[in-house]
Amino acid sequence: MSLPYAPRFAFYDGKLQSGSSTSSFQTIDPATAKPIANIHTTTHAAIDSAIVSAQKAFPAWSATPPIERARILQRAAALLRARNDELARIETSDTGKPFTETSTVDVVTGADVLEFFANLVGGGGMNGETAQLRPDAWVYTTKNSLGVCAGIGAWNYPIQIALWKSAPCLAAGNCMVYKPSEFTPLHSTVLAEVYAEAGVPPGVFNVVQGGGEVGAYLTQHPSIAKVSFTGQVATGKKVAGAAAGGMKYVTMELGGKSACIILPDADIDQAVDGAMMANFFSTGQVCTNGTRVFVPEAMKSAFEARLLEKINHIRPGDVHDPNTNFGPLVSKPHYDKVIQYINHGIKEDKATLLTGGPDRPSFLSSSPAYHSGYWVRPTVFTSCTDTMKIVREEIFGPVMTILPYTSVSECISRANATQLGLAAGVFTRDLSLAHKVVAQLEAGITWVNTWGESPAEMSVGGWKQSGVGVENGKRGLRLGCGIRL
Ligand code: NDP
Repeated sequence: MSLPYAPRFAFYDGKLQSGSSTSSFQTIDPATAKPIANIHTTTHAAIDSAIVSAQKAFPAWSATPPIERARILQRAAALLRARNDELARIETSDTGKPFTETSTVDVVTGADVLEFFANLVGGGGMNGETAQLRPDAWVYTTKNSLGVCAGIGAWNYPIQIALWKSAPCLAAGNCMVYKPSEFTPLHSTVLAEVYAEAGVPPGVFNVVQGGGEVGAYLTQHPSIAKVSFTGQVATGKKVAGAAAGGMKYVTMELGGKSACIILPDADIDQAVDGAMMANFFSTGQVCTNGTRVFVPEAMKSAFEARLLEKINHIRPGDVHDPNTNFGPLVSKPHYDKVIQYINHGIKEDKATLLTGGPDRPSFLSSSPAYHSGYWVRPTVFTSCTDTMKIVREEIFGPVMTILPYTSVSECISRANATQLGLAAGVFTRDLSLAHKVVAQLEAGITWVNTWGESPAEMSVGGWKQSGVGVENGKRGLRLGCGIRL
C-alpha cells in the first residue's frame, strides 16, 4: 500500500541512509488511525556510523567562527519560516494537532529559538571573561563546545523540541545525533535536509530512528558528551542514570502537574480562559499544563458556570480545517492511558464529573473518517481532593481537576505538595499579591494572568523531579545543549 509520506531512515554524512535498518514500523495519523509512513529503525552499527560522522564534523564546525555559524543557522531559520505551512501539515498529520496550532506555534517557536541562539553566538555569546590580577597577570575563561551531543525528543512538540535542542547545540559549535519519538518521527529528516540546504556541513546534525531502545543505545554510547532529553519523569530517570555512568552532562526536560491558582479577586473570564488554555490547548498534551486548578470555595459555582459555557467553543473536527481547535490524542497507547485515568477519576477517586468523560465525542457520528481516531472529550472533574490519583499524577490529556480552597496560604502549601515543579501560575487583579504568591511557588516557570507563553528569550526548566538544566534564553547556552560547564 502506498503511504502519503516517504519512508524515514537515519540521516548522517549529510544524506539519508537507506541501508541503516533491518526492520521497520509505521507511524500513524492519530485523527484517522491510518498509517502514513514507514519508519526504518536504525541499527546499532548505523548509530555508531552516525556518531562517527558527527565526530568527524566536530573539529571544523567548532573551529568555524561563531558569526559564520550564526549566518548558516539564520539561513536555516529563514528556510523553516518559508516552509512553515508545509512543515505544519507534516506535524498535524503526525501528532493530530490542528493546523491552526502547528502553523502558528510549532514551527514558528522552533525557528525563533534557532534565530535567537544564532544571534546570541554571532553577537559574542561564546566570549569568555577576563580579570586582571596584577599589572602583569591576567586570568581569562573560554567557552568551549562539548563535542557530540545526543538529543532525544518527546512526541508532543516534535519539530519544536528538535529545534530547541539542536539550536544551542549547533550554534555553540557542537554536533548532534537526534532521535525523535517513534510516534512522531516525520519532521526529523526534513529538518536535517533544511539544515543541509542552509549550509550546515555533513555530520553536524544527524538523525537516528526508532524507539526507546535506540535512545538507550545512544545515551550510553561512550562518544556522546551530553544528553539533552525531553520526556516522562520515569524515562528521564533511566536516561540520567545511564548518562551518569559515563559522567556525561545532561539536560532533563520532564513532566509536570502544575498548579493554576485562581486568587479570590481574579477576573472570572480571564481566569476561565487561562484555565482552559492550561488544560485543553494541544488536547492537554503540554508539559506545563496547569491541571490542578485551585479555585476559591466562594467562586467555585460562578467559575464552573462560565467554564461550561466556554467549553462549547472547543471545536474538534478536521484537523486541517482552519475552524478546528481541538485534535485527537497522539496514539492508541496514550488514548488508552488517558481513558483509564478518566475512568479511575469516576470509579476509584469518586471525583465529581462536571463535563466530558470516557465516551467517544459526539462529533464523530457525523465524521466517519475519524471513527477509529484517538479522540477524547475535554473533561473536567470538580470538588477534587489532593490525594486523588487524577490530581497527583500527570495524565497528559484534556483532563482538568478543580480543587476548592479557603485561604491563600493553604492553597500555596497544597500547590507545592508534589514531587513535580515544572510550572505554576496565578490569576489576580492585584499584581503585588501575584508577585508574593509566585515567589512562594516551587516551580521553574511561573505565569501571572496568562498561561503557556514561552518565547525564545525565556529560559524554561523544571524544579524537583521535573528536570535538570534549562532550555532557551541566555542560560540555555550553558544549561541547555551548548557549552562545557
Ligand atoms: P517518553 O519518556 O515516553 O519518551 C521520550 C523519548 O525518550 C522518546 O523519544 C522515547 O522513545 C525515548 N525513550 C524511551 N525510553 C528510553 C530509554 N530507556 N533511553 C533513552 N530514550 C528513551 O515521553 P513521551 O514521549 O511520552 O513524552 C511525554 C512526556 O514528555 C510528558 O511527561 C511531558 O510532560 C514531557 N515533556 C516535557 C517537556 C519539558 O519541557 N519539560 C516538554 C514536552 C514534553 P519512543 O517514544 O520512541 O519510545
